[in-house]
Amino acid sequence: MQAMQVKNDFPILQKVIYERYPLVYLDNAATTQKPRQVVEAMTEEYYNVNANVHRGVHFLSQQATELHEASRETVRHFLNARSTTEIVFTRGTTESINLVASCFGQAFMKEGDEVILSEMEHHSNIVSWQLLQARQGIRLRVIPITDDGRLCMDDFEKLFNERTKIVSITHVSNVLGTVNPVKDIIRIAHEHGVPVLIDGAQSTPHMPIDVQALDCDFFAFSGHKIYGPTGIGVLYGKEKWLDSIPPYMGGGEMIKNVSFEKTTFNELPYKFEAGTPDYVASTGLAKALDYVSSIGFDAIQAHEKDLTAYAMQRLMEVEGMKIYGPHLEEHDAVISFQVGNIHHLDMGTLLDRLGIAVRTGHHCAEPLMRRLGIEGTCRASFALYNTRQDIDALVDGIRRVSQMF
Ligand code: PMP
Repeated sequence: MQAMQVKNDFPILQKVIYERYPLVYLDNAATTQKPRQVVEAMTEEYYNVNANVHRGVHFLSQQATELHEASRETVRHFLNARSTTEIVFTRGTTESINLVASCFGQAFMKEGDEVILSEMEHHSNIVSWQLLQARQGIRLRVIPITDDGRLCMDDFEKLFNERTKIVSITHVSNVLGTVNPVKDIIRIAHEHGVPVLIDGAQSTPHMPIDVQALDCDFFAFSGHKIYGPTGIGVLYGKEKWLDSIPPYMGGGEMIKNVSFEKTTFNELPYKFEAGTPDYVASTGLAKALDYVSSIGFDAIQAHEKDLTAYAMQRLMEVEGMKIYGPHLEEHDAVISFQVGNIHHLDMGTLLDRLGIAVRTGHHCAEPLMRRLGIEGTCRASFALYNTRQDIDALVDGIRRVSQMF
């Protein structure tokens, strides 16, 4: 894969920052940039197709509906789900997780029942369950991590008991880059008769996902982290679960018949899609997935593995460098680091002055920060359009900042 050529698909990457520095965008775990193909497809839909979807008899409505449902099929294919009835459009990973916590919790969890999470979860996979805890008195059980940021799998097995109702865990850590052994986690949970939700926010952009091979019960991801638009995401759920949990929100689209006495709900997946969906964003998401598929995960993984290895090697040349997370083999394209005692906020702010975009802070993972005994880190995260030159610019930038202190 030629990352330089790919860069041409992303107009924003040509930007010059502070009228001086070419943009070096290394904040891809927060959100990715969008290729022309995505933006143009969405513009085209607004200019030429726009109409509300489903049940419209007129031409535009039918065309918009066809596009929206074709996008659902693209998502199904991307995840290798069995059926489009298992693909629910949401606003993103956060909404997908909240949906499961709320609806699965309502159907299957009562006071004292337990959900298993891990110490490296994003706040969205902690607070959603705490809201359920406040409503229904459930308990959160937490898999500890090792000092190098891997799950303690022995402890995981010991957390199961007759009150365990669900495991909800991230595929890839947005801080440490750890790739969790989700296949083993799912197998072990299923041996205990417990379903599993996988937070795929950080895995979908970097590796092929096959929900049938994984055998996960739910899988959540966000469009904006995989070169698609903001405001759209996906919840995959096995039909048997989606069928057996109540709707999340009430409104149009999600009903079959409404009366003041009794309302019946629509079939899957519409039962979970109250209100007008973002049918233009679904087109953008499908285009983004097509874009990724056209490059192919073999090429993306080879490129990103090379970049991550190169970045680790180059960063370690910097005096006082500490990198968090596991060794390279288990490490995805996210690197959290700290240089000497330079505050991460100072480092990030000064790198920005050189046109280098990294993220600083707790990365929505405060419990993980507490476990690591730190307040925050600087985080560089890579995408398919990053190059070794971007890494060189980062390392030079860090050196320049270090010299100031
Ligand atoms: N989980 C993980 C692991 C994440 O990295 C993120 C985004 N930082 C989320 C969940 C939430 O995603 P979103 O904000 O797109 O809903």
